[in-house]
Amino acid sequence: MSVTSRSTVALLVDAGGVLFNNVTEESRFIEILAARWKIGQQDLLVALDSLDAAYETDSEDVIDVLRKIVCAAGGRSLTDGDARWLEETYGEQVTSIAPAFEALAAIRVDHPTVSLVLANNEARRWDMVKNARFGHFALFDRIASSWAVGLVKPEPEYFKAVGRMIGMPLSSTILVDDNPDVLAEAGALGMRTVRVIDRVWPKHELDEAIATVQNIESTR
Ligand SMILES: [Mg+2]
Repeated sequence: MSVTSRSTVALLVDAGGVLFNNVTEESRFIEILAARWKIGQQDLLVALDSLDAAYETDSEDVIDVLRKIVCAAGGRSLTDGDARWLEETYGEQVTSIAPAFEALAAIRVDHPTVSLVLANNEARRWDMVKNARFGHFALFDRIASSWAVGLVKPEPEYFKAVGRMIGMPLSSTILVDDNPDVLAEAGALGMRTVRVIDRVWPKHELDEAIATVQNIESTR
């Protein structure tokens, strides 16, 4: 599937807190990793946060980043077995938000000219694990996760790069995200924004935003 010339609106959709839980913050993932390598849970979290741009832009594999963190914290060296275990453990800690999956599938039927674009800050490896388990890539016309773009939200350059990627002006895009800071940056660039609160899919606000952008486009 691709963004077609009939597309008048593009919906950029976040994943953490929108389609899935936020694994690092909302699951036992960090706790389980820290226990395996006998390192401090808080130290691991802080180190991972400080290096997130490296793996979210795909300049480094998240497993190589973890290898360095564990080594620096005095843990043992990570093996290939650890890499497989990490993917399995991550997969076990991801939960999907089914109503959001259903809502996106419905948009494809109800609004066939709306392009659906995955716009998540994520490590390539974790996005692949999620897709193998839940198949979320199939909901979208384009995958514009940070690892695919090489930039992260909320950098203005990220949004501009996604606009170029899909061949649409940012004024024709709507961002669905749960992070108010990210939404504010997108709004400053002229994008429409719809906030997800407490994992509730914002159907009404989104339908309004789609109608607004479509009306603007049709009067051009
Ligand atoms: Mg999020």
